[in-house]
Amino acid sequence: MKFDTLGLSAPICQAVAAAGYTAPTPVQERVIPEALEGRDLMVSSQTGSGKTAAFMLPALQLLTETHPAHGRGPRVLVLVPTRELSMQVTKAAETYGRAQRVRTVSVVGGMPYPAQNRLLQAGMDILVATPGRLLDQMQSGRIDLARLQMLVLDEADRMLDMGFKDDLEAIVARMPAARQTLLFSATLDGNIARLAGALLRDPERIEIDSHRTKHENIAQRLHFADDLGHKNRLLDHLLRDAAVNQAIVFTATKRSADDVALDLHSKGFAVAALHGDMNQGARTRTLQALQRGRLRVLVATDVAARGIDVHGISHVINYDLPRQAEDYVHRIGRTGRAGRNGTAISLVNAREHAQVRTIERFTAQPIPVEVVEGLEPKVRHFAKPSGPSRRAPGKSRGRPQGRSFRSGR
Ligand code: AMP
Repeated sequence: MKFDTLGLSAPICQAVAAAGYTAPTPVQERVIPEALEGRDLMVSSQTGSGKTAAFMLPALQLLTETHPAHGRGPRVLVLVPTRELSMQVTKAAETYGRAQRVRTVSVVGGMPYPAQNRLLQAGMDILVATPGRLLDQMQSGRIDLARLQMLVLDEADRMLDMGFKDDLEAIVARMPAARQTLLFSATLDGNIARLAGALLRDPERIEIDSHRTKHENIAQRLHFADDLGHKNRLLDHLLRDAAVNQAIVFTATKRSADDVALDLHSKGFAVAALHGDMNQGARTRTLQALQRGRLRVLVATDVAARGIDVHGISHVINYDLPRQAEDYVHRIGRTGRAGRNGTAISLVNAREHAQVRTIERFTAQPIPVEVVEGLEPKVRHFAKPSGPSRRAPGKSRGRPQGRSFRSGR
């Protein structure tokens, strides 16, 4: 299938071709024609599936028509959970909207108010915002949503997890009822279904894939580690592999992100940390350095688990496993972007065994265990029931299969 069969205008098809896309992804194929019809949609799709273009292209098409009312308020509002995702969405609007004179403004927490207020005064077509700061700016009268025609809730599940439900409802209450609403989320059940019931009108449900998507382009494995020292030695060994183009190493806490980054720096790696204690300027500079290939390793907390879209990331390494199985899926989705292959490796100590089981149940996929020769665990770890452990390519040897986590603990 080609983009020009979806009902998009020629300039938008050209912008998409200039971005190097030859065919729509499955989520784009399903969402774009329905969105162009003006329907409300609730869409389950993974990060990395091309969902941003799936809503941005119809939004840009809407902007090719003149709005009957004059004003400076946005015609399209994209609500996102994090600053990083807002940067990605803003960049997409600029890339795909290059041929049109579309003005996109991003309103996120952490940005100084005077600069943000100036941006808002100039007016906009598309507003990309995190809910808290948007509501704040609406309450001070700086944003008028009277001209709004399309609302997009991107990663709605994450916004609910982050406690934005009340803010979302307060924002939506001040919008024109005659708008189109597109909701994107990893899952569509429970709280998301309730939110959709309240905010969407007779939505079409589009389910592209779920957390059970096989991530076939991402090779997953895990290494057992006895303690932090062992994790550090494994990490050093893994990062020295020439196959690592760029890697994101995920840690559980901001403190350990800093500690691990410092340790890797002392070992000569081009590395930086990224976490929520850093100010927005520092976070942006770090992401730009990663994007430009000046950093080989980024050590990050889950703040980076969504929204980072850097094609050079060949490896994701979980120095600590995430507490939520869902975050595992988001973390590994930082590699294997846009059809490339990627590798996701987890370093697992005895306390994290239960998390492995939770993740495997969530993804319905076993994660094979591998051992690096010379860095074998000394503590007895129980091999998993789901599959034999394997030899890491070239350097590792498999361990005999042992008892299951459940029976072994
Ligand atoms: P997303 O799921 O929106 O975060 O997109 C993931 C990545 O896929 C981004 O780097 C996009 O630039 C890329 N992408 C989006 N649509 C296409 C397409 N039709 N063909 C190739 N790459 C795409």
